[in-house]
Amino acid sequence: MAQEQSFKALQEALIKFNSDRSWGQYHSPKNLSMALVSEATELMDEFMWLTEDQSRALTEDQRSLVRDEVGDVMICLLNFCHNAQIDPIAAAQDKILKNAKKYPVP
Ligand SMILES: [Mg+2]
Repeated sequence: MAQEQSFKALQEALIKFNSDRSWGQYHSPKNLSMALVSEATELMDEFMWLTEDQSRALTEDQRSLVRDEVGDVMICLLNFCHNAQIDPIAAAQDKILKNAKKYPVP
């Protein structure tokens, strides 16, 4: 599946990026979980003080900033998952199944 290939390529590119900079020494689960929340907060900051309608109709500049933060969140999540040896796709698929049982269709 092409999507699986691009996801795997993204993971491998990120591993190389970190390895080239010897950043693994900083990548404990504790630090990476904190970095993930920090980046999620930066994403949230882009929406602070916007109305509901404004948040649904971002300008191109706002959308670019949001896109950058989505990238940061994804990178942090992938770094965390790599470090914790968690397959994020399988984790999400399993969680959807759990949620479907917890919240049945009315
Ligand atoms: Mg950021």
